[in-house]
Amino acid sequence: MEPNQVTVLNELAFEMGFLLLGITKAHIDDATISKFKKCRDAGYFGDMGYLEKNLPLRMAPADLHSNCGSVISLICPYLSDNSTDWMSREWSKLQDSSQAYISVYARGMDYHKVLRKKTKELAKAFASTVGAFTYRVAVDSAPILEVELAEKCGLGWRGKNTLLLNKSAGSMFFLAEILLDIHLPSTPKVMNHCGTCQACMTICPTQAFVSPYILDARRCISYLTIELASDIPMEFRHLIGNRIFGCDDCQLICPWNKFAKKYILTDFSPSKAFESPDLLALWEWDEATFTARTQCSPIRRIGYQRWLRNIAVALGNALRTHKNKVYKNHVKLALTQKLPQVSEMVARHVVWALSSGAPDIDPLA
Ligand code: SF4
Ligand code: SF4
Repeated sequence: MEPNQVTVLNELAFEMGFLLLGITKAHIDDATISKFKKCRDAGYFGDMGYLEKNLPLRMAPADLHSNCGSVISLICPYLSDNSTDWMSREWSKLQDSSQAYISVYARGMDYHKVLRKKTKELAKAFASTVGAFTYRVAVDSAPILEVELAEKCGLGWRGKNTLLLNKSAGSMFFLAEILLDIHLPSTPKVMNHCGTCQACMTICPTQAFVSPYILDARRCISYLTIELASDIPMEFRHLIGNRIFGCDDCQLICPWNKFAKKYILTDFSPSKAFESPDLLALWEWDEATFTARTQCSPIRRIGYQRWLRNIAVALGNALRTHKNKVYKNHVKLALTQKLPQVSEMVARHVVWALSSGAPDIDPLA
């Protein structure tokens, strides 16, 4: 493999919407395997049984593709606006209890589809340049420890918030991988730049970090609003605020995200419906509207009932914290009117919301 071919690979990747790439061997070290197993044994993965199901493959990525010699790891930014005040605008959205907060990554098209297509195109274009090789593309589609591999090939370091951080790109990006049956020269690792900072751990609304670099997913709002299929535990409901799909707090506070890059692929431009949506308007959606509006969106995967469950929690929090009595009456009416139409699980959250089941009821209400 000549160095100029790596240059060609980089050029092709950039043309296709990727910001950075790194190369490493398809190998996970023993320390990483041991840490993964400790987190699993402690129950930190919650109901994400798929992590356990494919464990042997996760631990040995070379087995994912025949004669796998190298892995190309790719960074694809998704931020739609990286002007200097982008983080403060996101914090403002979190302060407005009549708005719904949807994680930044989920406001555009579903990255699985978009990235998979682009990553395949890149692999194909690269193959036509360097000669025949076989490959397998992974975009959350294969059991692969993507952050570990990205870290190994120098695309950044795993921050205390457990996400991959890059000095020039922060963490607002997706990762994708190409497994190849040829050997490419590995790119060097970079050092960790978290230093003494602990801002992500301090800001986390549910205190989901057990220690630096270790997340108890069962406490994380992203898990609770996306992965969890059953009732959201009472202890977390008032802490969720207006977050109805995911949470970005531990990224918004991270100083490295001052360097977050804007998307190259316009597919990630936010849908108007999800940029700063009105909570009550979303609550009014029937299932057909949910299905239509979430076409091509990653939000669709949680389904209508989980969607309603999350909005009911956010409306309950609006009832607790919103200052306007008229608005609160609208919320109560909307919750009450929909109650007979929702599933039993959603109904339990609606009842909680109506009783403003959180501990600190606003005495001025
Ligand atoms: S996504 Fe939110 S809840 Fe989850 S760890 Fe980060 S700050 Fe905490
Ligand atoms: S907020 Fe600080 S500690 Fe957390 S990931 Fe960013 S730099 Fe590291």
